[in-house]
Amino acid sequence: MKILYFDICAILIMVVMTADLFLRKNRGTHTNRMLLALYLNVLITTVLDLWSEAYNIWVLASETDSTLRYILYYGYFLSRNFTPLLYQLYLCAVTDTWHILRKRRRLQVLLIVPYTVVCLLLLSNVFFHNIFYFDENLIYTRSYMFYSLHACAMVYLAGGIVFLITYRKVLPKDKLLALICFYPWNLCAILIQAFIPEYLIEMFLNTMSLFLISNIVQKQDEMLNPAVGIESHIAFSSDMRKAHCIRKPMQLMIAGVVNHQSLYTILGNDAFSQLMKQIADKLRSSFGGRSGSIDYYYLENGLFATVTDSADPVLFRQSVRRFASCLQESMRMGRMEVETDMCLAVFRCPEDFTDYDRMMSFVYSFTSFLPAGGTITFLEDGSDDGKSGFLLRNDIDRIISDALADNRFEMYYQPIYSVAEKRFRSAEALIRLYDDHYGFISPQLLIDAAERNGTIIQIGDFVLDSVCRFTSDCLRSGLDLDFVELNLSMKQCVQVDLKDKVLSFLNKYSLAPDRINLEITEGSVSADQDIVEENIRILSEYGISFSLDDYGTGYSNLSRLISLPFRIVKIDRSMTEMVFDERIHTVLKHTIKLLKDIGISVVIEGVETKEVFDQFVALGADYIQGYYFSRPIPENDFAEFIRLHSGT
Ligand code: C2E
Ligand code: MG
Ligand code: MG
Repeated sequence: MKILYFDICAILIMVVMTADLFLRKNRGTHTNRMLLALYLNVLITTVLDLWSEAYNIWVLASETDSTLRYILYYGYFLSRNFTPLLYQLYLCAVTDTWHILRKRRRLQVLLIVPYTVVCLLLLSNVFFHNIFYFDENLIYTRSYMFYSLHACAMVYLAGGIVFLITYRKVLPKDKLLALICFYPWNLCAILIQAFIPEYLIEMFLNTMSLFLISNIVQKQDEMLNPAVGIESHIAFSSDMRKAHCIRKPMQLMIAGVVNHQSLYTILGNDAFSQLMKQIADKLRSSFGGRSGSIDYYYLENGLFATVTDSADPVLFRQSVRRFASCLQESMRMGRMEVETDMCLAVFRCPEDFTDYDRMMSFVYSFTSFLPAGGTITFLEDGSDDGKSGFLLRNDIDRIISDALADNRFEMYYQPIYSVAEKRFRSAEALIRLYDDHYGFISPQLLIDAAERNGTIIQIGDFVLDSVCRFTSDCLRSGLDLDFVELNLSMKQCVQVDLKDKVLSFLNKYSLAPDRINLEITEGSVSADQDIVEENIRILSEYGISFSLDDYGTGYSNLSRLISLPFRIVKIDRSMTEMVFDERIHTVLKHTIKLLKDIGISVVIEGVETKEVFDQFVALGADYIQGYYFSRPIPENDFAEFIRLHSGT
């Protein structure tokens, strides 16, 4: 007699698993929906299996008509053979490869063929009893083509294994193993039941393999952010890794609350979470939720993401705009009205980001360099320059660390003309970095990023070292130069060991202190006044001179200018360009006179034409620097330039 307990257990387990999946908050995801379909199918199969076997045991004796039994068996075979097809669809959902299936007709046909054959075989059985039948004693008997049903299942098995091997990189090892195990597990079940038919173990083992999958593969509720009610950053990074692995086409909108820190402080934890939930609700309602393939994520710290692989780009943009305008309205939190300052970006993959790491670093840093105030930046619309600007900002940290590791920074030198001596007496050292992808990187962008990411000290040391070596080489080779100017960043100015550092580099190349001049900006002086002033004083005592750079851009503070021992003031290019404006001309005339009267030399930066040059010579400037004479040039070219222009 057949032992039915395995089927009974399988049904109980399956009911619990189905209920569990149904009660999960994230049951609506594509993968969960596929898994639910798979569970229900296995549940139906097990019930039909149990029902037909129970029928054999208890009803058979009194039964003369086999119609109901045929119906039960047909139902059983149809649903049992549907499982491998559903499993294959579930694999597509887990690996996020629906878009591939959707696009390729041939794959769709291949997927349906084995199950269609099963249906046709069962249909032929109605007439020919070639699969199974009930004999004259109403005993269930397998017919000569019975194993063709198994052959169809084998096609799915082979296809499934090839599929999992192809997409093995998409899944972590434990998940991959659990998914592959489904096949040997079910194969064992079929074999056991073939050899020991009284043990109805097939559906039980089938259930067990799904149990394993549900525990190892399936997204848990932790993938959901419980407070905000949409998927979490863990789900986002895992989904994005998968999508990049298979180069799945996607459209993304990311939105960041720029003022999230102050909102958190003002509102406190609970109200802040409520506010994030309100934004998540707006996100859902703006994107309409009509398409099942839109996913919403909360990535912590006021950061949201919406991802779709299928939506029409025009509709997607409309939804983004709808969301942005929803956010313009202020939100109520209890009695308080709060304003969120949002920064939004829309882009596509793989067009805008070909790899996972670059995309993720953009997602987690875009609020620091894209415009906020509810502005939407469409990356795909950016002119090549604009777009590459965003991407450069995103990549700059990596570019800097690679360049430091490979020693790829270089110093260029721009000659500075002495009006009194009518020749080039000095130069400004300017950093240059060439990147294979982006070309020359803007020094300002580079220095700002290096100040932010902390590599500025290392870069500053490189600049000091290079300039001291170069100046010493120039002097040794007889080049007639008074000094070379180099820029100090704000972070270098506040270093307590700045004096020791500068002196050690001078020492290293046996260079006299008056051969270098350190340029600092207004901003650096006001950063941490005491320590900067102390550094300037001590280094000046050692004979190193200072220039105040970019004069005229900040709130130029005269008392500071007088109190600190600056040898030179450099008038910024933005002022130089306006020398023909009457008022600016007057300001420049008096500024130059005033500076000279208090013993400070004046360098005019950014002189590009003869007319401007003549103007400043007439105004009494001491030194002129600009493209009119030369752009910043590499070391060797510079030596050549000076030789050429000094006639030696
Ligand atoms: P800065 O110190 O004011 O340097 C002058 C900038 O004006 C340089 O830009 C130079 O190439 C540019 N320039 C000179 N003459 C002309 C001209 O006639 N027309 C125009 N349009 N531009 C002219 P660059 O090299 O792009 O450097 C920009 C800024 O980056 C520098 O401004 C400086 O603040 C910073 N920087 C450059 N190199 C270094 C460095 O080694 N260390 C530090 N800390 N900062 C640096
Ligand atoms: Mg400078
Ligand atoms: Mg300047």
